[in-house]
Amino acid sequence: MGKVSSIRLKTSDEIALMRKANLIVAEVLSVLKNKIAPGMSTFELDRIAEEHCLDCGGLPAFKGYCGFPASLCVSVNEEVVHGIPSRKRILREGDIVSLDFGVLYQGFYGDAAITLPVGRISEKKTRLLQVTEDALYKGIAQAVPGNRVSDISQAVQSYVENAGFTIVRQFVGHGVGAQLHEAPEVPNYRSTDKSSPRLLEGMVLAIEPMVNVGTHRVKILDDHWTVVTEDSQPSAHFEHSVAITATGPYILSHREIRGDDPVVC
Ligand code: MG
Repeated sequence: MGKVSSIRLKTSDEIALMRKANLIVAEVLSVLKNKIAPGMSTFELDRIAEEHCLDCGGLPAFKGYCGFPASLCVSVNEEVVHGIPSRKRILREGDIVSLDFGVLYQGFYGDAAITLPVGRISEKKTRLLQVTEDALYKGIAQAVPGNRVSDISQAVQSYVENAGFTIVRQFVGHGVGAQLHEAPEVPNYRSTDKSSPRLLEGMVLAIEPMVNVGTHRVKILDDHWTVVTEDSQPSAHFEHSVAITATGPYILSHREIRGDDPVVC
């Protein structure tokens, strides 16, 4: 079986369920954005996320996934992704914090991430956050039927590198649906693989650029989860779950409500 045939296309009913899952994700991230402040522990953020998710009728998807011990991934400054919340990790003015959250709702997953400033941050970090979020939208703009996954990768990488930052290669975006991680992989860099999958209506992709100020290289800490930049310079991460539709990219994890959206929370 080829790569393309292992990609599961979603029906419009399934995409509607995924919109609900992702609306809960968006809601949780929005609550965290409003509450984050210097002096909070990353554990507190995890508690808020989990409680709010359960209140909305969703299940935290990351808790226990491959043994991950929390509901929310919290990655501070040089941490790229998969940071483990801790009572001991206190946020300070000037930090940047990547929050990645996943929800399981009626058999389908939602997945999104944002990077937030804590109080006032440096100009460089401000630019890093803006470039990373903009790069995500450059990638999303390519998520249309007929393009290839590599068109998304190319758009993200070019934008990031033209801005003077680097793109992480060791971790990539992914298909999402009845599984948290499905085919295809969605790299944020140009690959030499000429058979990059063609984008079809009904695919849902988690597009998630991870952008570094310094080297693109990363390493994993002894906790076996936390990914950090090799040179300890800051990193940012933005992610949306996006459905490929005939009328263009449908950002399922966008908080903005459309007329046909369900009330979830
Ligand atoms: Mg993801």
